[in-house]
Amino acid sequence: MCGIVGYAGAKPALPVLLDGLARLEYRGYDSAGVAWIEHDGIKRMRCQGKLSGLIDLLEGGRKTRCPIGIGHTRWATHGAPTEVNAHPHTDCTGSLVVVHNGIIENYFTLRNRLQQEGHEFQSDTDTEVLAHLIEKHLEGNDLVEAVRGALEEVEGAFAMGVLWKGAPDMLVAARKESPLVLGVGQDENFMASDIPAILPYTRDIIFLEDGDLAVIRADSIAITRIDTGESVEREISTISWDATAAEKAGFRHFMLKEIYEQPQAVLNTFRGRIIPDTGQVDLPEIKLSHDDLGKITRIILLACGTSWHAGLVAKYWIEEWAGIPVEVDLASEFRYRRLLVDETVLTVPISQSGETADTLAGLRIAKEKGSPIISICNVVGSTITRESHGTIYTHAGPEIGVASTKAFTSQLTALYILALYLAQEWGVMNANDCSQKINA
Ligand code: GLU
Repeated sequence: MCGIVGYAGAKPALPVLLDGLARLEYRGYDSAGVAWIEHDGIKRMRCQGKLSGLIDLLEGGRKTRCPIGIGHTRWATHGAPTEVNAHPHTDCTGSLVVVHNGIIENYFTLRNRLQQEGHEFQSDTDTEVLAHLIEKHLEGNDLVEAVRGALEEVEGAFAMGVLWKGAPDMLVAARKESPLVLGVGQDENFMASDIPAILPYTRDIIFLEDGDLAVIRADSIAITRIDTGESVEREISTISWDATAAEKAGFRHFMLKEIYEQPQAVLNTFRGRIIPDTGQVDLPEIKLSHDDLGKITRIILLACGTSWHAGLVAKYWIEEWAGIPVEVDLASEFRYRRLLVDETVLTVPISQSGETADTLAGLRIAKEKGSPIISICNVVGSTITRESHGTIYTHAGPEIGVASTKAFTSQLTALYILALYLAQEWGVMNANDCSQKINA
């Protein structure tokens, strides 16, 4: 959802990586990190919060002259925005690092299996499974085959970069349903999740396609298909945009760009929440048992502004499908009246940022009165999510436009899923009815 930069060339990599990450800062992020190779192995530095913190730790990039490396700015989807969860992530040996944008849908199953096989995890992210899976497939000492083998086991969306001590002159990049481009330079090549990161260095860009895997060295780029291993040629496009136009991917406004990002945001919010074989909705993150849900007699959707409008729509879905009364409350009013709320009322605060002051205040009052709280939120680890019993994250990624677009549509998606889940749990709808609503 956020930023990746990779460099293989003749100059020191670190200043290029940090500069590239700085050019992606406008997108928003919660932590940042880089990795490179020294004679004694992989080095990595990560920092929660602003990129400037990382730049200071790395002495402005002067810490090493190593000519290859990868960097990342993270927008958390799985695991709080902490230094431990910041990318790059390593395998058990620390000789391999991975940066990743997107969501690994089956990470929980993969993680359990890898842990049973003896792999030790350090973070709460979905990304870390990639590092351990590649480690597992590295028995043949062929990084490309190992990445390919790992990705065959993975479901979900990824744009990723890998650096391994055993092949210190190359980066491996791969993508599926998350953007990734390569930059072609003179005796240097780049990878990035977004063109602005590398625009000052090259205007010759290769847009990787879904299912592509690239091996990037200072003097060559080789692209193959993940599934077949077949070589493919991808055209080099020369980008004429200036830096400001590139930030908007050629659109006139961020808002227009974000309107076009809506299908991806909706898909990301559905990810991993529908069981493909049965059509059932799966929402373990709400952390309410079947019995807890059985006690609910009324629902309050609590929000401000755009999120409140999402609630107005969701009221129809929940009442229609789950057959339970729903109130949609403006959080700024909710706080200032006598509240008839108790443990039989489910409160659903909706907030993009998870920091909306009125919504947070309303949440606290409802919680004090014993109401179970399930929030809908876009920012992992934000205050509202920390104070809720459970959260359904909307995986819209950062939104820059002031008028909300993809954040709103993904809130609607999360509420749609919640409505179906409640109907399913209360036995009003079966899996077949749910999958019809999802495919509609
Ligand atoms: N899902 C990954 C995480 O939570 C990647 C997030 C991103 O795309 O920045 O760490």
